[in-house]
Amino acid sequence: MAPFVKISEITKRFGDFIAVDTLSLDIEKGALFCLLGGSGCGKTTLLRMLAGLETPTSGTIEIDGHDMSGVHPADRPVNYMFQNYALFPHMSVAKNIGYGLARAGISGADYDDRIAQMLKLVRLEGFGHRKPDQLSGGQKQRVALARALARRPKLLLLDEPLAALDKKLREDTQFELVNIQEDLGTTFVVVTHDQEEAMSIGSQIGVMDAGKLVQTGTPQSLYDAPKSKFMADFLGSVSFLPATIKTASSSKITATGLIDFTALPAQDFAKGDKVTIALRPEKINLSRGDAKGANQMMVTIEELGYLGSVTHVRARTTDGTMIKILLSNRRRTQDAFTWDEQVVASFDPQDVILLPEDS
Ligand code: ATP
Repeated sequence: MAPFVKISEITKRFGDFIAVDTLSLDIEKGALFCLLGGSGCGKTTLLRMLAGLETPTSGTIEIDGHDMSGVHPADRPVNYMFQNYALFPHMSVAKNIGYGLARAGISGADYDDRIAQMLKLVRLEGFGHRKPDQLSGGQKQRVALARALARRPKLLLLDEPLAALDKKLREDTQFELVNIQEDLGTTFVVVTHDQEEAMSIGSQIGVMDAGKLVQTGTPQSLYDAPKSKFMADFLGSVSFLPATIKTASSSKITATGLIDFTALPAQDFAKGDKVTIALRPEKINLSRGDAKGANQMMVTIEELGYLGSVTHVRARTTDGTMIKILLSNRRRTQDAFTWDEQVVASFDPQDVILLPEDS
């Protein structure tokens, strides 16, 4: 199936500065696609090019099979929800939601029905007559969402839709946004700089850095199979150890460094390649005894942070590297690890992430 949004080698320059750099991306119909990246990496510029608010310096954008070059924002099957919501303060909630409908010449029963549907969708029935200043932050956000969806765009672009909400409300609203998106099946592209938010709402995530797309995938694939040190470090916590590939077959990779490693084959590696081993903290086990064989190493516990359900551990390997371990405290134990204790850190081959050394 052809992708719903097809971005091909798009570049946007502002004078000498390249905000988006030969970026290509396909987005499937019905996806909740999160564009994730640090400040200034070009997320908003890409979103604005999709909306037609910014013209690409080069490259093309197709939406639903149509080339958008030269197509005016109002003529695109797209709507844009701004970060500050931009509600009209003098208009009621219903009038705010109906603004685009009225401009499109929709009136009478059709208009009223659509407003009622939208108020129901965002759970604000009975709020139609209020003014924006009589609403909470979360309710304003829902009015903005209803207004953006009222004309049934095929693609909704949301720039940091939850940034104005406090932490608790943000978590509740994340789920609501996902539910509404799933109910409607509209394709959403959400810009965020918040990794956790992208992981919890995105069906697909594209990570951007310095105008380029670094990696795209489901939240789980990005976390479990990052393709670079940047990606491994960007999403979640990780420890790195250097190693050199010893053998590489279609079923198994072995490498040697501080210890011997065995891993499942992932990227194309050959004997002699310098690699970085990435380990997620929750994939490392600690036990008492001696290290024996591959994927086991002696470490000295340097820090223990007990948080009730989990304990954060920092431990030093025999070459002085600090590694992070997350222990889940499923059982109450009388015999917990202590500072300065020497223990065995071990991990399974499927949890060894192999990355190119300079990535
Ligand atoms: P943030 O999360 O901080 O909003 P972002 O990833 O959305 O960041 P953009 O707003 O896309 O970043 O900006 C990318 C880069 O392009 C920034 O360095 C910004 O200063 C620059 N930029 C954006 N718009 C313009 C403009 N109109 N003129 C010049 N430079 C611009």
